[in-house]
Amino acid sequence: LTERLQAAMSKLRRKGKVTEADITEMMREIRLALLEADVNLQVVKQFTKQVRERALGAEVLESLSPAQQIVKIVDEELTKTLGSETVGIVKSPKIPTVIMMAGLQGAGKTTFAGKLANHLIKTEKARPLMIAGDVYRPAAIDQLKVLGQQLDVPVFDMGTDVSPVEIVRQGMALAREKKNDYVLIDTAGRLHIDEALMDELKQIKEVAQPNEILLVVDAMTGQDAVNVAQSFNEQLGITGVIITKLDGDTRGGAALSIRSVTGAPIKFIGSGEKLTDLEVFHPDRMSSRILGMGDMLTLIEKAQQDYDEKKAEELARKMKENSFDFNDFIEQMDQVMNMGPLEDLVKMIPGMNQMPGIENLKVDPKDIARKKAIVQSMTKAEREDPTLLNPSRRRRIAAGSGNSVVEVNRFIKQFKESQKMMQQMSKGSMPAGMDQMFG
Ligand code: GDP
Ligand code: MG
Repeated sequence: LTERLQAAMSKLRRKGKVTEADITEMMREIRLALLEADVNLQVVKQFTKQVRERALGAEVLESLSPAQQIVKIVDEELTKTLGSETVGIVKSPKIPTVIMMAGLQGAGKTTFAGKLANHLIKTEKARPLMIAGDVYRPAAIDQLKVLGQQLDVPVFDMGTDVSPVEIVRQGMALAREKKNDYVLIDTAGRLHIDEALMDELKQIKEVAQPNEILLVVDAMTGQDAVNVAQSFNEQLGITGVIITKLDGDTRGGAALSIRSVTGAPIKFIGSGEKLTDLEVFHPDRMSSRILGMGDMLTLIEKAQQDYDEKKAEELARKMKENSFDFNDFIEQMDQVMNMGPLEDLVKMIPGMNQMPGIENLKVDPKDIARKKAIVQSMTKAEREDPTLLNPSRRRRIAAGSGNSVVEVNRFIKQFKESQKMMQQMSKGSMPAGMDQMFG
């Protein structure tokens, strides 16, 4: 999606003023881009119609920066189509809040159950109980139990010989007795939707009276995901959607159509196999991600989860005041090292995901260690004020850290550039990469 849209937009950018014909051509590109990204045809038609109407309005034709105006409109309409607002888990007024998973086999239900338990524990110190309602494969029960052990969350199971409905009934009773605040029900899936599956889920719904029925869909299944969502919604009535396997990639296609077709809000997205690879869904950020603006906010939030909130606020403030210094840099690097594969994180930085060769990017921990050594060879004053770093100081730092002066210079240059980029972003202007793209 990204590439196509960006090509079309940078073409438009080179023009001063746009005509109606330009907009028509632009709409064709947007339509193709969306179809290529597996967005449902109806949704594409509706979406392009809305964008076209607004684009033909005075706001674009008379604008001095038509390309930017169109980007803005596409961004706003995408956000709208994706649901405008973040919708969290709807809680029951009385514990426990019951959340039931639904979806095809392999969509990521069991994994998501674990991720959600982890999220609830982290964000509200929840005490969930998980119920193993997939009795068709012994491995499914073990999988949930392993997650339970990792998280220190109890898992209720009765093996594979009892019906899922009975298991859920007894699991619910246990949760009430133990006063668990959440019950997460893992269910079985099939390769395709069939009546037996739907009947079973309906019965579980009857017994559990869930506050949430979350449909878990695999983003990689594209158009299929939309059909699946539609039939689950018709037959079971879903309250929310989880889109999994959106790892680093920008396949917004499924998200876009599922939301339009079912009307059910997307609540979380799965971005990897680990328990922490879960992101709260933000329509505006997803839109930016589709448009290739990167997803700086998600990146910052990810950092936030792993260390305390104050620090993230301080960072935001420093970015704004341009007082981000080498000490912060070191701290950031240490945080980043604890945050999982660097490649994934780097790709979330605005402008990065459209850089040529980004696919082959490997962030080298040795490189980070080298940068750290450089900073550690600076005096306190130098760390706080990069402008002090004159040539003789740089030579001293190079010697002290076991690097060449060239390497030290290169690093300081990089540091200054990222300082600049941060300041730009925190002012709400387009990040550097975008500026170049859209003028
Ligand atoms: P279920 O059959 O619906 O319960 O699906 P599982 O939870 O067992 O997941 C099926 C496979 O997808 C497993 O190998 C998971 O590790 C993987 N998976 C689940 N969620 C994600 C995700 O967000 N990203 C990636 N890359 N893999 C995922
Ligand atoms: Mg499962």
